[in-house]
Amino acid sequence: ASGYSLLRNPHHNKGLAFTERERDAHFLRGLLPPTVASQELQVKKMMHNIRQYQLPLQKYMAMMDLQERNERLFYKLLIDNVEELLPIVYTPTVGEACQKYGSIFMRPQGLFISLKEKGKILEVLRNWPEKNIQVIVVTDGERILGLGDLGCQGMGIPVGKLSLYSALGGVRPSSCLPITIDVGTNNETLLNDEFYIGLRQRRATGQEYAELLHEFMTAVKQNYGEKVLIQFEDFANHNAFDLLAKYGTTHLVFNDDIQGTASVVLAGLVAALNLVGGTLADHRFLFLGAGEAGTGIAELIALELSKQTNAPLEETRKKIWLVDSKGLIVSSRKEALQHFKKPWAHEHEPIKELVDAVKDIKPTVLIGTSGVGRTFTKEVVEAMASINERPIILSLSNPTSQSECTAEEAYTWSQGRAIFASGSPFAPVEYDGKVFVPGQANNAYIFPGLGLGLIMSGAIRVHDDMLLAASEALAAQVSQENFAKGLIYPPFTNIRKISAHIAAKVAAKAYELGLATRLPQPKDLVKCAESCMYTPAYRNYR
Ligand code: NAP
Ligand code: MN
Repeated sequence: ASGYSLLRNPHHNKGLAFTERERDAHFLRGLLPPTVASQELQVKKMMHNIRQYQLPLQKYMAMMDLQERNERLFYKLLIDNVEELLPIVYTPTVGEACQKYGSIFMRPQGLFISLKEKGKILEVLRNWPEKNIQVIVVTDGERILGLGDLGCQGMGIPVGKLSLYSALGGVRPSSCLPITIDVGTNNETLLNDEFYIGLRQRRATGQEYAELLHEFMTAVKQNYGEKVLIQFEDFANHNAFDLLAKYGTTHLVFNDDIQGTASVVLAGLVAALNLVGGTLADHRFLFLGAGEAGTGIAELIALELSKQTNAPLEETRKKIWLVDSKGLIVSSRKEALQHFKKPWAHEHEPIKELVDAVKDIKPTVLIGTSGVGRTFTKEVVEAMASINERPIILSLSNPTSQSECTAEEAYTWSQGRAIFASGSPFAPVEYDGKVFVPGQANNAYIFPGLGLGLIMSGAIRVHDDMLLAASEALAAQVSQENFAKGLIYPPFTNIRKISAHIAAKVAAKAYELGLATRLPQPKDLVKCAESCMYTPAYRNYR
C-alpha cells in the first residue's frame, strides 16, 4: 500500500511516530514533517489539545476524530486517562452526542441496519470490512440512557460501549462491531429535524419489528458463528425482556441494562456491607423505577439472597420493593402489570408517593432507576437518613441531568451520612469541612470484563451465575483504602486489572457450567485474561 493510504488508515496510522526506517520502507518520505515523535509525546499533545476545549461535546468530537485517524493513539489516551476521558466518550457526554448526532455526524463508525435492509441483512454484515467479529453491541435507539427515543442517533451508544470493551476490557477493536437497528422513531423533534439521519417514519412494531430482529439475529449467527457475543443495549423494556428471553437459549446474548447493571449494583451493595456491617439479608431495598434496570437488579439481589440463605426466590423477593410511575407496586393494583413487574407485586396497601413508601417500607437501600432526574427530593433523602445511620443511596439514572439526586444533595441532606454512588460521575463534594468522594455505579465496571471472560473461554451462553461471579469479582476489588474514603467501587484507574479478574471469574464459571468451548481450560485464568488483552502500543512495521 502507498504511504499516503497508510496515513489514512486508522488501524495502522502512527502519524509522527513513524520511524525513519518505516518512512523509507513504506513510501512515507515527504508525507510527514521531519520530526519523529514518541507515542508518549503524542498523548501529551492530544491531552493538551483536548483540555483546551471548553465544551465536553467538543472534547467528544476531538476523541471521535482521533479514533478515526489513529486508533492506537485513541486507545492509549483513553487507557492512560480513563477517569478524565470516560465522561467524554461515555456518559454523560455521549448522551449529548446522540442528541446532536445528526449534525455532528462525520463518518459512520458502525453498521446501520434499517427496514430498508430487510431481506439483505447478511449482505449488509458482509459489507463490514472486518470478518472476525467477537462482540456486537446493538441498539434500536428507543431508550437511549434516560433521554428516551433517539432513533438512529442512538448509534453513539454502541460506539461508546465498544470503545470501552477495548479500553477497559482489552477486546481487540477490530473484533468489535457497533450496530444500530433503525425501525423508525417516535421522537417528533427528530422526525421534523432536517438533519436527522434515520428513517423518517414512526417505529415499526409487532410482527414487522420481530421479523427484522429475527433476520438480524439469524444473520449474525450465520456470519460470525455461535461464539459472537451480542450485547443488547438501550432497547425499550417492551422489547428488551422479550428479546433476551427469546434469544437467550440460542445465542450468546446479554442485556447490559438488565443484567450488567444488576451485576454492578450487587457488587456495590456487597462492598457497602464493609461500611455498614451485617449481611445482605439484613437489608431492605426500595427502587424508584421498575423497568429493565430496576427489576434486573432486584432479581439478581433476590437470587444472591436465595443462594446465601437457602430460601426460595419467592421469599427473598419480599425484601425488595419497587415504585413505578404509578406508585408502589402492590398486588391489589387494578391495572394489569407488565410481566417483569409481577414478581414484585407484594401485598401492601397502595402508596402513591416515593417519600411515603420510604417512610412505610423503611428501606436501608434506596435505588433510583427511573430515568427521571431530581426525584430523590430533600424529603426523600431526609427520610432515608432518619431511618438509617448510613443510608445507602444509588442514583443510577443517566446522564447527569436524569440522576435522581446529585452527590451534593445526597451528602448535604443526609448530613454526610449517605453512602452514595451514581450512574454518571459527580465531582467530590465538601460538606461540613469534610470531602466526600462519590462512586460511580455504572455497568462499565462489568461488561468489558464479562465480555472478555466469555470470549476467552469460548462461552456459548450467558448464565445468571456468571453475573453473580462478575459481581463477586468486582466487590473483591474494592480496597480498604477505598472503603476508608466511603467508596463502594474501586476507582476506574485500575479498571484493566479489575476487568481481568472479572473475566477470570466469569470464564471459570463458564467452564464449571460446561458452557465453555475453549479447551483445555487454562490453568491461571487471570494471567490468561491479562495476556490476551489488547494493548495500544504502536507496532513496528518492517
Ligand atoms: P425503563 O425500562 O424504561 O424503566 C423506567 C422505569 O422508571 C419504569 O418502571 C417507569 O415506570 C419508571 N418511572 C418513570 N418515570 C417515573 C417517575 N416519575 N416516578 C417513578 N417511576 C418512574 O428504563 P431502564 O432501562 O430501567 O433505565 C432507567 C434509567 O436507568 C435510565 O436513565 C438509564 O440511563 C439508567 N441506567 C443506568 C445504568 C447504570 O449503569 N448506572 C444502567 C442501565 C440503566 P412505568 O413502568 O410505570 O412506566
Ligand atoms: Mn444502557
